Parts: sequence; structure tokens; C-alpha cells
Amino acid sequence: MLIPADRLTRLLTATLERAGAETERAQVCAEHLVEANLKGHDSHGVGMAPSYVRWIAAGILQPNARARVIRDHMAVMVVDGQYGLGQPVARETVDMAIARAKQTGIACVALRNACHIGRIGTYGEQCADAGLVSTHYVNVVGADPAVAPFGGREPRMLTNPYCCTIPQANGDHIVLDFATSAIAIGKLRVAHMKGEPAPAGVLLDAEGAPTTDTGTFFTSGPRGFLLPFGLHKGGGMQIICELLGGALAGQWTMQPGSNRDLGAAVNNMLSIVIDPDAFGGREAYEAEAAAMIDYIRDTAPGEGNDRVRMPGDPERESRARRLKDGVPIDDNTWADLMRAAASVGLDAAGVAAIG
Ligand code: NAD
Repeated sequence: MLIPADRLTRLLTATLERAGAETERAQVCAEHLVEANLKGHDSHGVGMAPSYVRWIAAGILQPNARARVIRDHMAVMVVDGQYGLGQPVARETVDMAIARAKQTGIACVALRNACHIGRIGTYGEQCADAGLVSTHYVNVVGADPAVAPFGGREPRMLTNPYCCTIPQANGDHIVLDFATSAIAIGKLRVAHMKGEPAPAGVLLDAEGAPTTDTGTFFTSGPRGFLLPFGLHKGGGMQIICELLGGALAGQWTMQPGSNRDLGAAVNNMLSIVIDPDAFGGREAYEAEAAAMIDYIRDTAPGEGNDRVRMPGDPERESRARRLKDGVPIDDNTWADLMRAAASVGLDAAGVAAIG
């Protein structure tokens, strides 16, 4: 079914509020998740909300915990997310990084112990909207490893996303933002919910044999696992995200001694935020970048492509489409959302009243 974005936002805000989040925090989280759906990343959209509700009920996710600065030294800040609702905590952290980068020219800000912060591109866009370049290295902990390193046939890490964003004066920022696994776990979950197979070449079964059966991953028995994207290059990025996000920012990597039994996805993120003004000549830089972007866009399209796109374009196209048509929500995801709403006392009549 297709559901208008504003209706989904109201439903999620109400569900998270009833689960214990203050209105503003519930709203930031709900808007983030719906925006991820609008941008085509259903894996990091509203389908995550039932997990957040479960983690709050289990006492792991602290819905109203704030981002707390635990070290502040010149261009470097370390922030503890205190297991707060990830989206408002990460937003607060990135606000601090933006303010610092505008003072110092560059800021390097570590966020640790934030419950799942969602789509990392959101934080890149937050910086880009302020006119700043940024890169974000993220690891994921709090659950069993599910992604093998390149060349391995045992899982050692999770999906460790990376993001780099380059602001554009017209708002069409370059937003490179992806999981370093060959497919995001959320996308595998979406395929599983729809009863579709996984793409070839992304999934191995528990014995390490290639499979497209998503059931080998979502099972309580011996589990299958994912491969990194892009052979040794993606595998290298996966390790860099683990070490910069996990070890430098979070001091929490996916080693066996870490808290894998926590039962909730926790993110650690190292963000480097750069003010182009600090280099002098912002106008010249922007003109050079814009001209190069035009030159790349102008490339003759290869077979099977209608045109060459920049990172961030597919999300803008999806957003325009889904704002007009509504957000597609599959039946299983909707049922999951209804169960989450009911678990916090929002019954069918309450959902209908939300509109
Ligand atoms: P993906 O494979 O869909 O890749 C998305 C990136 O590729 C975007 O930058 C997009 O603009 C670009 N892109 C796609 N098609 C393109 C084209 N034709 N031309 C140019 N650029 C193109 O992303 P993914 O790996 O499925 O990740 C989905 C989301 O999941 C991301 O937003 C990521 O941050 C998020 N994620 C979060 C966590 C977490 O723990 N919080 C973990 C993993 C992933």
C-alpha cells in the first residue's frame, strides 16, 4: 500500500511518544525514518521503529538521553550518546560539530554509544545544508557479527556504513552514503518481508556456500552472513569504519569480548566536518566543483543507463516520486508497525484517529 509521508510521521511520532520519548525526540526520529523511506532507503525507514519500541521496552534504549560531551579540546569533541534514541542524539552531536567547524575550520567529533542512528546520509546532509563538507565513519555493535571480512568465510563485523557529503549551493548536495556490506541488513530484511530472494553474490549460508535464500540469515539456527561490497576495496572500507568509528570514536569494536548480547544495534561514529571557507576562495572552489559535476553528469550513458547520476541523485528522484505518490509499505512491515503501536497502547481506533 502507498501511505502519505505525513501520516506515517504522525503514526511513528505517536508510537514513540507512547513508548516513552519526549515529543520533540519522537518527532526527530519519526521524520528521519520517513525521510529515509522517501529517499528510497526502506531498509532504514519506518520498518526500524518496531525494533526501537522493543529496545525501549527492554530498557536498553533510553529514549530521552541527550548527547553528552565528555571531552572538548580545540577541534576535537567526544560525545557519549548514553544509549539514547539515535537520531536526536546524532543530530545534536552533528549540530555541535557544525558549530565547532565554523569556529576552527575543521572539527573531528566522535559519537559513541548511540542506539541505531539510522541513515547516515542525513548527518552528511545536515552538514551540507550548513555549507560544510563532511565524512562519517560508522561501526555497528550490540549484536552478533553478520558480515565477513574480504577473503573470510566467518562473520566478524556488522554493516559499518560510510558517508561523504559535498555541499552544493543549489541544495543538490553530493551524498555518498552506503553500508560496507554488499547489501544493507535492512534491505535483506525488506526482501525477506516481501518473500523475495537476495541478490546473487551478497549472502553465504552458515557453511559459507553462496545462497539467495534470505531465510538462511533470518533464522534462529546457524545463521548465514553477508560479504563486504567491492571485494578487497569494500572490505578495506569496512575495516576502516570499524577502526575509526569503533576503536577511535567508540572504543567499542566487534571483538568477542565486546557486549554482543546487548540486544540492540548501537552505532559509534567518527565525523570529520570541514568548512571550505577555511581554505579561502570558497567561490572559486564551488565554481570548480560545480563545473566538474556538470562535466561528469554530461558523460554519455553506458548501456542500461538513461543518464549518469551523482551520489544523492537517486534519493532526490525517489523523494520527489514518493512525496507525490506516497510511501510503499509492504503488508508485513505494516503489520509490524501495528503490533508496535498496539504494544504501547495505540489500538486500531487510535491509529485511525491519527489519520
Ligand atoms: P546503496 O547501496 O543504495 O547506495 C547508496 C549510495 O549510492 C547513495 O550515495 C546513492 O546516491 C548512490 N547511488 C545509488 N545509485 C546510484 C547511481 N546510479 N549513480 C550514482 N550514485 C548512486 O546504500 P546501502 O548500502 O543499501 O545503504 C542504505 C542506507 O543504510 C544508507 O543510508 C546507510 O547510511 C544506511 N546504513 C546504516 C547503518 C547503521 O548502522 N546506522 C548500517 C548500514 C547502512
